[in-house]
Amino acid sequence: MASRSAELFARAQRRIPGGVNSPVRAFRGLGREPFFVERAAGANIWDVDGKEYIDYVGTWGPASLGHAPAVVIDAIRAAAEHGVSFGIPNPYEVEMAELICRWVPSIQKVRMVNSGTEATMSCVRLARGFTKRDKIIKFEGCYHGHVDSLLVHAGSGALTHGQPDSAGVPAEFADLTIALPFNDIDAVRAAFRENPGEIAAVILEPVPANAGLYFPKPGFLEALRRECTMYGALLIFDEVMTGFRVARGGAQEIYRVQPDLTALGKVIGGGLPVGAFGGREEIMDQLSPLGPVYQAGTLSGNPLAMAAGLAQLRELERIDGWKKLEELGAQLESAVQDSLGRTGIGATFHRIGSMFCLFFMAGPVTDLASAKRSDQEQFARFFNRCLDAGVYFAPSQFETGFISTAHTPQQIERTARVVDASLSS
Ligand SMILES: *Cc1c(COP(=O)(O)O)cnc(C)c1O
Repeated sequence: MASRSAELFARAQRRIPGGVNSPVRAFRGLGREPFFVERAAGANIWDVDGKEYIDYVGTWGPASLGHAPAVVIDAIRAAAEHGVSFGIPNPYEVEMAELICRWVPSIQKVRMVNSGTEATMSCVRLARGFTKRDKIIKFEGCYHGHVDSLLVHAGSGALTHGQPDSAGVPAEFADLTIALPFNDIDAVRAAFRENPGEIAAVILEPVPANAGLYFPKPGFLEALRRECTMYGALLIFDEVMTGFRVARGGAQEIYRVQPDLTALGKVIGGGLPVGAFGGREEIMDQLSPLGPVYQAGTLSGNPLAMAAGLAQLRELERIDGWKKLEELGAQLESAVQDSLGRTGIGATFHRIGSMFCLFFMAGPVTDLASAKRSDQEQFARFFNRCLDAGVYFAPSQFETGFISTAHTPQQIERTARVVDASLSS
């Protein structure tokens, strides 16, 4: 008898392109179909056929407290009883803006939006409006949502499914985007020299996590900061994934580099559809109704979304969530390194706090070109063995794993055993 997941996927494929509402959810290249979720709680997911998994996707990042944490559910319920949307300012928006500005000091003013894509799209428009320039520098393998001008050498699902440069983006748009190798400051300097007075902004994931996970070399972010300041371009950190995840103040807190604009999403919404972008006041005040750059949203600052996000962020602070995430991450790392040492597999494990990635190759991995050398077939075998054993890692080499505060040391231990067996067999 066909599983319920298989039945649902067959129906989904007839009415939804590829059967999914976001390509990263399709298990293409893994030789199997996606499962459908019945429910999730803490670190666990149960599929519609009753199989239980330890989840390391965490709804692709937002679930830093795990699934359905009581504080978030209670906050949503309480907010909903007062109405689910107003299109009129509500007090939650002010609390959220104040919290963001307190935790991320480079942000003096902030606008809420409904997704990470909207956040990066708005940053780019604002940077262009502020500088009165058109060109943007991005980095190969960095993913900034499905914004036209940023779907150039993009990561995440665009990379997984072999479409890093999307169809449907006019060449005239793509031509305004200069894509460079991550960690290559000489290439950035050359681009600034070759396009004098034309570059509005440099946008990057300060810790790239959409082509696997790798890190800025010492001095790279600082050098970008200097080049941007020197040439009058804005530095935009896309912290949709790293914001409130790697530290309370995001990657910019860890690396001590202040961008002009920051894009946020994922953790900020507690699982509801939220994004935000903010930065220096003089730049943010270029937004309508104060300035000439238009940006808007019917559901932006939605009370349920704000309540959920505030509840999650405050709980993370209350329980010192980032310390807990670091401890759990360190536990997983040391177990995986043990396995790699014992089995002698030439793999490379990367981690920052609760984010991690295993590349099936000897390192170093410092950019897209090196990440792409990972053995995809070995990854697929590993992913499938783990999934069959009840451990759900992201279904692509070009994604990052997430641990939540709801993961217990016992679950990490069980995961380590599954990883060990999957690597060894
Ligand atoms: C997920 C992600 C986005 C896009 O956010 P959506 O909410 O999916 O639109 C943008 N940038 C980064 C770094 C991301 O990880």
